[in-house]
Amino acid sequence: MSRPFKNRCTLSIAVAFCLAGTAYLTAKEYLSGKVWPEPKLVTPGENGAPPSDAVVLFDGTDLSKWTGGSWKLEDGAAVAHGGDLHTKESFGPNYQLHVEWAEPVKVTGSSQGRGNSGVFLAEKYEVQVLDSYDNPTYFDGQCGAIYKQSPPLVNACRKPGEWQTYDIVFESPLFDEQKKLVKPGYVTVLQNNIVIQNHTEILGSTHWDAPPAYEPHPPKETIHLQFHGNPVRFRNIWVRELTPIVPKNAPETSAAPPQPESK
Ligand code: MG
Repeated sequence: MSRPFKNRCTLSIAVAFCLAGTAYLTAKEYLSGKVWPEPKLVTPGENGAPPSDAVVLFDGTDLSKWTGGSWKLEDGAAVAHGGDLHTKESFGPNYQLHVEWAEPVKVTGSSQGRGNSGVFLAEKYEVQVLDSYDNPTYFDGQCGAIYKQSPPLVNACRKPGEWQTYDIVFESPLFDEQKKLVKPGYVTVLQNNIVIQNHTEILGSTHWDAPPAYEPHPPKETIHLQFHGNPVRFRNIWVRELTPIVPKNAPETSAAPPQPESK
């Protein structure tokens, strides 16, 4: 490289650095103007344990947080038997729900008759639980479906007898004082850490013998686990209500979402 050319390159680099430095010094930081409260501290659970702010619904020892059904306790699991199991407490309008379940080791039945149970959000919207490992059925009724509304994105089922997880984020539909729907419900589901429902819009209550239709209900509702004649086992069930984080200086009209009524 000739000396004059080398000098010109050096000068160009120096000028570029100077311009960049000037731009940095004269740039102004973007500030949203929103005064955020500090997010609360939550300690994650270790080895599958619930996070520190979770409401534990079943830890393997008793069913004191539930009512209905005549489910059995076996080896730290609640076994579906004799009716649906309902939480005593109501939750909503938005929450994160963790459920673990295992299909019966002894495979019997087929299609909807094999390992059928379900997680009913707000008592009305079923996330299907089914042994869909090598068990064809209608797609919007297989494991992970929003029953008769939306098949799972993929079939992420483990073999019968193996423990599986659901991590569900539920946004309840909201109704006004005239019982008119003002916001549909949404659900996101991860099965065994795989997204199978991605903010799926709920179309109404899930029925076997009727199309989906919304039936007004409070923003806080109980949750139930379905008994469908199969001894599906459940364990490690917990829920976290999701409270919106709102700027301290938010305008009054948008400072808070509709407040849930107590059931
Ligand atoms: Mg079911």
